[in-house]
Amino acid sequence: MKKWHFIIDVAKCENCNNCFLACKDEHCDNDWPGYTISQPLHGQRWMNLQRTERGRFPLIDVAYLPKPCQQCDDAPCIKVSQNGAVYKRTDGIVMIDPQKARGQKAIVTACPFEAVYWNESEQIPQKCTLCAHLIDEGWKRPRCVQACPTGALNTIYLEDAAFGLLVNEQNLETLQSGNNPAKPTVYYRNLYRFNSVFIAGSIATDKEEESNCVPDAEVKLYRKEELIATTTTDEFGDFKFDNLPRNIGAYQVQVIEREAILDSVLVTLEESKVLTTIRI
Ligand code: SF4
Ligand code: SF4
Repeated sequence: MKKWHFIIDVAKCENCNNCFLACKDEHCDNDWPGYTISQPLHGQRWMNLQRTERGRFPLIDVAYLPKPCQQCDDAPCIKVSQNGAVYKRTDGIVMIDPQKARGQKAIVTACPFEAVYWNESEQIPQKCTLCAHLIDEGWKRPRCVQACPTGALNTIYLEDAAFGLLVNEQNLETLQSGNNPAKPTVYYRNLYRFNSVFIAGSIATDKEEESNCVPDAEVKLYRKEELIATTTTDEFGDFKFDNLPRNIGAYQVQVIEREAILDSVLVTLEESKVLTTIRI
């Protein structure tokens, strides 16, 4: 059985909000009978763009996370709903029946991804439908995907086994749902830009008169005496080790020249860290 799969590349999102606006254009003031009633103009973000900043100026990284309904395989919203008000279609899309779901506010709080919104005037929960009304008319992409100018959003219609291979080949990841394993089916590329931390720094010297940047210096990263990564400084003397898990103890950064250790710094990471300039 083929299913719809949403793949999102965090590294390609520029926060232009085209996806958010396309969703509003499709769903505000438009009822889609059998699918959903219209989305209120304000207060609901079926395509919710979140932002994170890592590091500090000038070694700073800003990333955006497009977060629609995660179309979960073990969806808490389905479990909590009464009378079959929330259900998963055979093509993988999770739907809320607006008539059956009336008054069921528990569907909002059940979602670990905060993807369900309460429509106060209609007293119903609402969320992204992956534009199921268009998919059922033969569209290959929902409106948000069609509107994305950078290719950050993609949908693909594949058998589970073929999609599993793609996930492994491309190291795709899902969002975590804490103690609630909802089994989200929206997959992300470059999620480390949102979830992980980095150690960055600059290497300078007082020996040179014209420039004090040190390009091409070898920098090594250790944890518990195990070499994790090696890099070299760029033309500005900057280096960066990215995609590191936070709070797993101390890292050691070593600057090497001709196999001699010129400097060594110990770092414990709760957030991304930009070291003070290392002088050699
Ligand atoms: S993200 Fe939330 S609303 Fe969407 S299927 Fe999962 S639990 Fe349900
Ligand atoms: S349209 Fe694409 S690039 Fe623009 S905010 Fe949405 S996901 Fe990001």
